[in-house]
This record gives sequence, structure tokens and C-alpha cells, in this order.
Amino acid sequence: MTTLVWFRDDLRVHDHPALHEAMQAGEGSHTVALYVLDEVSPGVRPLGGAARWWLHHSLEHLAGELLALGVELLVREGPANRVVREVVEATGSSTVLWNRRYGGPERDIDARLKHELRERGVAAHSFFANLLIEPWHVTTQAGTPYRVYGAFRRALGERLRPDLPLPAPPASSRPASLDALLADNISVLDREPAWAGGLARRWSPGTAHAHERLRAFLEDGLEGYAEGRDLPASDATSGLSPHLRFGELSPREVWHATHAAAAKQGLDPEKFLSEIIWREFAWHTLYAAPDLATANLNPRYEALGWITASDAQTGPEAELLQAWREGRTGFGLVDAGMRELWATGTMHNRVRMTAASLLTKNLGIDWRVGEAWFWDTLVDADQASNPFNWQWVAGSGADAAPYFRVFNPERQAERFDPDGEYVERWAPDSLLIPPIVDLRESRLAALARYEALS
Ligand SMILES: Cc1cc2nc3c(=O)[nH]c(=O)nc-3n(C[C@H](O)[C@H](O)[C@H](O)COP(=O)(O)OP(=O)(O)OC[C@H]3O[C@@H](n4cnc5c(N)ncnc54)[C@H](O)[C@@H]3O)c2cc1C
Repeated sequence: MTTLVWFRDDLRVHDHPALHEAMQAGEGSHTVALYVLDEVSPGVRPLGGAARWWLHHSLEHLAGELLALGVELLVREGPANRVVREVVEATGSSTVLWNRRYGGPERDIDARLKHELRERGVAAHSFFANLLIEPWHVTTQAGTPYRVYGAFRRALGERLRPDLPLPAPPASSRPASLDALLADNISVLDREPAWAGGLARRWSPGTAHAHERLRAFLEDGLEGYAEGRDLPASDATSGLSPHLRFGELSPREVWHATHAAAAKQGLDPEKFLSEIIWREFAWHTLYAAPDLATANLNPRYEALGWITASDAQTGPEAELLQAWREGRTGFGLVDAGMRELWATGTMHNRVRMTAASLLTKNLGIDWRVGEAWFWDTLVDADQASNPFNWQWVAGSGADAAPYFRVFNPERQAERFDPDGEYVERWAPDSLLIPPIVDLRESRLAALARYEALS
């Protein structure tokens, strides 16, 4: 008897309920693992370049970890629904298991597949694994999704009792006849792209590295997190986001490990855990609004008069956008962030907010243009967190009184990079670049655009 475990954004062997269940099946049964690079099913968003790089390396690590458990990983590409059915047939699987995901098109694929498999007599089951709580368990009394973080967090606080994470399952015997199927494995990257050197220097994908990063952060970083987390020159945040993005760690693992470390060190973990809850909020928001990356959460803002992606391809807007992308705005903090992003696939959260605010508020460029750039360049580019945060900064998303918030990049630099260390590290020449926009005038113009709509 063979069970197929379909891996998606959960590239780990521990706290993986679908894998765990498969490996319980006992003597004479086999488990085969599958990953499908699906960039063609309707509505599914193809990965950006940096995330693709991460995925490639993460899958290599996963394959090694699975093999140690006696499980081979097949890697295919194409429409997931068709590919899974083909692999079920080729492996003679009688059961397919996976952990649930929450994007709209992905849920459609999974629901249809479950139905089709069952019609063919193949058992199909999904498991809860990738959030702290199912999104349908956290709604307002009226049954609608929360739109304000504070209220969401309070509601979550009352209901949140995450189970303890599952250990990696014990090893079992490897099925004998998979060599021909393994020969058809695809490689997510044909070869290491020339631009990936900075990514490789900064990051180590894979669960072993994810665990090591979590351990090191909890031991050495948790204490100073609340104080240092806003300072981009310091190394005060966890650096866990790409590991969480690809599911190399589960949020349950982070949650329980943080509580344990905080108890041991006599610390209050609230500040750090509230960031994990922001991730949760972004995913719950995506669940309720599947078009989060393409439509303003508050539809009123469609009429704001954004400079759209096509406007921004020609004329003066194109130059402004290019200066923003390349870190040549003349605002040191933003330029440093945009160059850090290009070089390493990440940018500090404080700088993400400042750079996004400059683009959407001062330059008036549609948040979807910036979101797309981040999608392509961030190693942690996340289907929920990226559009959610862009909308939060643009003021069109989930927040109480958003549009008054215009981050002043000079003020942000004074407060959060007072010695200029971060700017010096990434964009020392920025001070010599004339600013591409007048902050005061553009702020007033932005406020007028927003006020006209409210
Ligand atoms: C415009 C913009 C775009 C963003 N795009 C992404 C994205 O594509 N993917 C992504 O994971 N984060 C995104 N963020 C959120 C945040 O910047 C990153 O999660 C954070 O910088 C990652 O660093 P860290 O792991 O050291 O964070 P820590 O401060 O150590 O936080 C721990 C974890 O909490 C979660 N988290 C923290 N802040 C947020 C947040 N605001 N929203 C959601 N989750 C959060 C992340 O999983 C993070 O790893 C974005 C923020 C902005 C302003």
C-alpha cells in the first residue's frame, strides 16, 4: 500500500501532520512525497526570482531529510491537479494526504482534486498545519473577518491554544521501484543565477538552518528584540520570515519554542509573538479576500487616482519608479533598503514600510507596482504578507485610520538609524543624490487625494 504526501509551502518533516499520518501506516506500506511546481493553474501566482532560488535549495534539503526517513521526493511541474493524479497512478497510491493552504485558487485546486480522487476510489485527506488557528474560527460576532489588528489579536487571544508540534516521524522502508520516476524529477533552477551570489551569502535555506536560526534567536535575541527590532543597522530581528514562508518551520513550533525560551530566561515574549500574529492576520485576511494582491481591500481606493503599472512604464513616472527600484531616490534610508533588497533578497521591516510609503504616498504610484517588485525580489515573498502589508502602508487595507500615516523617510532615518550606520552600509552615496520628490508638497498632495475619497 502506498500513500502519497503532497508537499506545498510546508517543506519540513517535523510538525507535518500529513507526513506523520502517512508514516503511521505500518509494515508493508510505503510513503512517497511529491512537490509540484504549479505556475499554470488558473489564478496561481508564479514565484518571483528570489523565492524560486529559495525553493530550489529548500527542496534539496527536504529531499535529503525525507530520504533519511525512507521517503523519496518526486518533483514535477505543471497543473497540480493533473500532475497529482498522474503520480497517484504511476505510484499506485491508494491515499493522498496534504496540509491545508489558504489562497483562493489553491483552495479551489485542492477541493476539486479531493473530489476527483475520491471519485476514483483514492482516499484524500487534508490536515491543519500552517497557521496557529483556522481562519474560519476567528470572525467577528457578525461572522465577518476582522479588519483591525488590535481587535483580531484580542479575538485570537481568547481562542488560541495551538497544539504541541509533532516530531519528525520514525523512518520506514524505502519503496524499491521508484528509480524510473525519480529520473523524471525537474530542477526548479536550471543553474544558479548570476545574481544569486548575495542571496547565498546571506541565507541558508532548509529546515536544519531554520531550526538553528530559531534556536540562536531565542537564546541570544529574544531579550533585546523589543528594543532593537526597529533599528535596521542592528541584527535584532529573527530572520525567520523565509523559513516560515516556505514552511521549513511551522508557526506552532515557533510559538511553543518562544514560550519555552521566554519562561527559561524569565522574559516576556509578547512583542515577538505579536509579529507572528501579524503573519496570522495577513493569512486570515487573504483567506477572506482571495484577491488581496490585485484589489484594494477597501474598494473605495480603486478611485484614488493611482499612477498605474502601465502609466509607470513611460515618461517621468518611469524614471521615478526606476530610481525607487534601484535605490537612487536621494533618501538614504530608502536607498539603503532597496539596495539591500536587491543584494540579499530581504529588507528590514522598518525600511519596507518607509520605502513602500514613499512609493505609494509621495510618488502616488499604485501599491500593486511596488508589491510586484517585492514579490520578485524578496526571498520571503509571501502570498498573504506581501500584499497585506503593501495595502496596510498604502492605507487601502486592514487598519483603523490609515491614510494620515505618511512615513517621512528623513525623520525615520533620524529616529531609527541615528548614526547613519545602515545608510553607510548600503548606500553611502545617497546623500549626494538630489531627492526625487519634495516630501512636504507630495505629502500634502497625497493627503488631499485620500481626503477627497473619505
Ligand atoms: C511593504 C511590506 C511588504 C512585506 N512583505 C512581506 C513578505 O512578502 N513576506 C513576509 O514574510 N513579510 C513581509 N513583510 C513583513 C515584515 O517586513 C517581514 O516579515 C520581516 O521584516 C521579516 O523579518 P524577520 O523574520 O527578522 O522578522 P521578525 O521581526 O523577527 O518577526 C518574526 C516573524 O513574524 C512575521 N512578521 C513580522 N512582521 C510581520 C508583518 N508586518 N506582517 C506579517 N508577518 C510579519 C514574519 O513571519 C517574521 O519572520 C512586509 C512588510 C512590509 C511593510
